Amino acid sequence: MDLDKLIQERIRDVDDYPKPGVLFKDITPLLADHVAFAGVVDAIVNHHGRGTIDKIVGIEARGFIIAAPVAYHFGAGFVPVRKKGKLPSRTHEETYDLEYGTETIEMHVDAFGPGDRVLIVDDVLATGGTARAAVDLVRRGGGEVAGISVLIELSFLQGRQRLGNVDVHSLVTV
Ligand code: 5GP
Repeated sequence: MDLDKLIQERIRDVDDYPKPGVLFKDITPLLADHVAFAGVVDAIVNHHGRGTIDKIVGIEARGFIIAAPVAYHFGAGFVPVRKKGKLPSRTHEETYDLEYGTETIEMHVDAFGPGDRVLIVDDVLATGGTARAAVDLVRRGGGEVAGISVLIELSFLQGRQRLGNVDVHSLVTV
């Protein structure tokens, strides 16, 4: 089967999760299919090209699952961005608005070397609040944002527009 088609088929729509009215994109069937999962990792690595990236930033929690094998195949280091209170050493933090309330994410202040080129990886780009905060964290940490790769972009939420001129690469656009 065509890889793009396989990837799309392995993304499951779940109605009313995590709350009524939301159609959630569940990637667990994709992760459980080694051909689809490997295809996603390879597509991200091939899009950017080996040797062009120094650090991969993965966003908790599903972003970690995709970002870690991408880092391995790039020959790049892995840097976690986590929800507030989960990282043990000194951090930068960014707070952004959710539909109800706010979210705060953090990254260690010493995650990057000078001029590190950084690719941010997550499973889904929705409103773009998380990705925007991650871009700001990377820049505060001294990294140069080379781009953002996501498995799924929910284009109707226009998250891309919050990211200015950052290169956004998505494998599946809904
Ligand atoms: P945003 O900040 O762009 O509104 O939301 C993106 C974040 O929320 C990502 O870290 C992603 O994991 C999570 N997210 C939002 N909607 C979905 C969805 O439908 N499916 C999955 N798997 N994650 C989602």
